[in-house]
Amino acid sequence: MALAEITARLREAEKAAGRPEGAVTLIAVSKVQPVDRVKAVLAEGHRVFGENYVQEAAGKWPVWKAAFPGVELHMIGPLQTNKAKLAVELFDAIHTVDRLSLAEKLARLAEVQGVCPQLFIQVNTGEEEQKAGILPADLDAFVGQCRGLSLPVQGLMCIPPEAEDPAPHFATLRDMAARNGLSGLSMGMSSDFEAAVAAGATHVRVGSAIFGARSYA
Ligand SMILES: *Cc1c(COP(=O)(O)O)cnc(C)c1O
Repeated sequence: MALAEITARLREAEKAAGRPEGAVTLIAVSKVQPVDRVKAVLAEGHRVFGENYVQEAAGKWPVWKAAFPGVELHMIGPLQTNKAKLAVELFDAIHTVDRLSLAEKLARLAEVQGVCPQLFIQVNTGEEEQKAGILPADLDAFVGQCRGLSLPVQGLMCIPPEAEDPAPHFATLRDMAARNGLSGLSMGMSSDFEAAVAAGATHVRVGSAIFGARSYA
């Protein structure tokens, strides 16, 4: 099975990087995948999943959460402020905190609900116009603002530019996390998760390598 193969490669990458076994959490990215494929991975015992769309996740995960105890859900897609409430109720972690208005909204929700998902700040390491994320030059101040709001910021997240070697972006993210005293690093996807582990990733987000190609048709 693909899950077993990816898990084995992840354990190898941890070993090669001199990191303890299990140091890296494998987030199985199940967005737009057919129900059967996701259920098969649940049946194999995997419990950590990532989704990009609040509405889609809200449509399928409550039932699976009830059926498979221990499911941990990570929001890894852009989060609209008007979907934040639903996201806070559904997700255990949000990897895409990318603006002050969203941070403020999450802080208000956390106050009302008494709990808050673990948060990652998305950094636009490639400074790409079309990509979400805090610009590197603004990051330290933004971390300070989130801390001022008492938000549980666990770490940083990035999606390197498609056509570039991801390794320098992973290294930059690691350095930015270290200088801000953050331990979490959400980086690495199907094509580059081993490089991310070598650079210190704590969470890799792997979709198609586990489930097969996505069809958006
Ligand atoms: C879809 C997605 C992934 C998974 O991508 P694969 O290439 O299928 O592994 C990881 N991270 C984010 C933010 C995504 O949107």
